[in-house]
Amino acid sequence: MQQHVLVTGGAGYIGSHACKALAAAGYVPVCFDNFSTGWKEAVKFGPAEEGDLADRARLDEVFAKYQPIAVMHFAALSLVGESMQNPSKYWRTNVNCALNLIEAAVEAGCRNFVFSSTCATYGDQDGVVLNEDTEQRPINAYGGSKRAIEDMLRDFGASHGLNSVIFRYFNVAGADPDAEVGEQHIPETHLIPLMLDAIAGKRPALTVFGSDYATRDGTCIRDYVHVSDLVDAHVLGLKWLEDGKPSRVFCLGSGNGFSVREVIDASRAVTNQDVPIVEGDRRPGDAAALVSGSKRATEELGWQPKRSDLSTMISDAWRWHQAAEYEY
Ligand code: UDP
Repeated sequence: MQQHVLVTGGAGYIGSHACKALAAAGYVPVCFDNFSTGWKEAVKFGPAEEGDLADRARLDEVFAKYQPIAVMHFAALSLVGESMQNPSKYWRTNVNCALNLIEAAVEAGCRNFVFSSTCATYGDQDGVVLNEDTEQRPINAYGGSKRAIEDMLRDFGASHGLNSVIFRYFNVAGADPDAEVGEQHIPETHLIPLMLDAIAGKRPALTVFGSDYATRDGTCIRDYVHVSDLVDAHVLGLKWLEDGKPSRVFCLGSGNGFSVREVIDASRAVTNQDVPIVEGDRRPGDAAALVSGSKRATEELGWQPKRSDLSTMISDAWRWHQAAEYEY
């Protein structure tokens, strides 16, 4: 019998890679997306159901049609900078939509929930290496809204037996090694795709957001993890829930921090081209350093990242960037 998994945001960057990984593992990923930021071309690995998470009746219809064994919830607004300028948009959309989805899942008898959370829930902790037990102190509405959803999942776990795996992502990068899906946002705000655009001459330059942080070269440090490795962890998280294991939080990072300048240098080496740069101000809401120190996903889920070294991530992203961009 086919096992369906409802993938919200399945047409987006991470969601589309998750659909590919789920299909490869024998599940049928049902992509639920309003296509506000996702791409119809990225739905390749299972059925598409157009809909908005704010529309509870539409959600109920989709749960009844497929009777999914689990939900993977990726759909969200996810831009730190925008969340600082427009917090109501983030609180309203991310939290209300998640509540609708959780209620619909519970009422449909779907008790397995995999949630895409973020290291932005930690805030700025002055270089502390972060793990699942680190206190969450978000400094922007994006991180705040994600932490609220984590709390919501715990409450529904206690009251309704909803089992969840919460993944706190560090910086997701790279693209499917087969270049079937990849990263494209409008507007693009992320470091690596913006840098590749600058290298390809599609933008005049990359602006470095702040050179006066208390880090080794003054620029922000982030822990980059390959999107294909990240979604492999989601399949393992799903199996964890299917095996009846308890709700659990896992950090997903490579454990290596790279500064913005180090990412620029690596891109120069991978593409063998110059990266035009402009020095800019700090971006509000940015923490100086976010690096994972967790081994829990490896120890408990058996997760083995394979492509999360910086040059592989950049070369996979570069291949996608050159080969296949979605039409808009
Ligand atoms: N960054 C930058 N210039 C850009 C975009 C990003 O210097 O045009 C920096 C940003 O300040 C952060 C890092 O690159 O330190 C990663 O930012 P991104 O937006 O990719 O991910 P985030 O850390 O916000 O999730």
